[in-house]
Amino acid sequence: GMPAPPPVTLAARRPTRQLRVGAVGVGSDHPISVQSMTTTVTADVNATLQQIAELTAAGCDIVRVACPSADDAAALPEIARKSKIPVIADIHFQPKYVFAAIEAGCAAVRVNPGNIKKFDDRIAEIAQAATERGTPIRIGVNAGSLDPRLMAKHGRATPEALAESALWEASLFAEHGFHDLKISVKHNDPVVMVRAYEILAESCDYPLHLGVTEAGPAFQGTIKSAVAFGALLRQGIGDTIRVSLSAPPVEEAKVGGQILQSLNLRPRKLEIVSCPSCGRAQVDVYKLADEVTAGLEGMEVPLRVAVMGCVVNGPGEAREADLGVASGNGKGQIFVKGEVVKTVPEHRIVETLIEEALRIAEELEPA
Ligand code: SF4
Repeated sequence: GMPAPPPVTLAARRPTRQLRVGAVGVGSDHPISVQSMTTTVTADVNATLQQIAELTAAGCDIVRVACPSADDAAALPEIARKSKIPVIADIHFQPKYVFAAIEAGCAAVRVNPGNIKKFDDRIAEIAQAATERGTPIRIGVNAGSLDPRLMAKHGRATPEALAESALWEASLFAEHGFHDLKISVKHNDPVVMVRAYEILAESCDYPLHLGVTEAGPAFQGTIKSAVAFGALLRQGIGDTIRVSLSAPPVEEAKVGGQILQSLNLRPRKLEIVSCPSCGRAQVDVYKLADEVTAGLEGMEVPLRVAVMGCVVNGPGEAREADLGVASGNGKGQIFVKGEVVKTVPEHRIVETLIEEALRIAEELEPA
């Protein structure tokens, strides 16, 4: 048949320098990647690798691990070697761990210029070590730990102050001929954060890592991140993203992936098109949608599954999807590609949808 038309997108990517974080290309020639950060003690290698495996399964492209102690630094070589996705070491305070992380074979190192005293004096050495190993550096400025010099100059963590801190640090690396940089300027206020990234995007061509820091628990953090990333991605700004939630990192990776899928910036996988329900509903739509979502979780093929509470809009939406159900009178009409393939009693709707979804998935992805 006809090839599917390319998805509609909102903006061309802002052209950037390119770099590689392990096997993952970063910059405007590459898809936007999703990052998260482990919550395990990094020195606990098994627990950390287990969490990285869960993140990988949840669609995380790149993972960051904290490195606050010598024991954590000592664990980096094994974690970097055994992880299936690139590992970035997150370094605050101690320049010696930057060298340890580069030496360990980490795919990149994140440094916070506000939290490494005398860091600037050692940039020549860091640039040299990073160049030798081909290790990119992320300059990660955070409103909560802004360079005191810029805090004094701007009075608070304004968008200008955040951007100035990052650009200053980048200029020090550039003086040593080092440009394998990615920049982030995180703030907990999405509006301040968006302005800071807009300033960066106008002022440099380094790839940018988006994040709303301390975004909060899952509900608030998801919304803050989604609106802020949407405002920037709509302008083509953003090359990697991290959703920060006070929730397990797997949730961060899922939300990040869903944000990109929502903007057609990552191929859509499973998509549940369920109705909000209303006074006409003849079935518990919330329960049905949750059960179908749970039953199909982890499906790798793109599939739109419609779950509709009645036959008013039900059949129409169900027809637009790959697969769907419209409920009524204690029964469910099951649609596949616009055709009613069967009508089943209500208690069999979920299992029938899952059966049909698996059958479609097999056809789409021949073993
Ligand atoms: Fe209401 Fe039916 Fe529309 Fe669901 S599909 S919102 S139950 S009219």
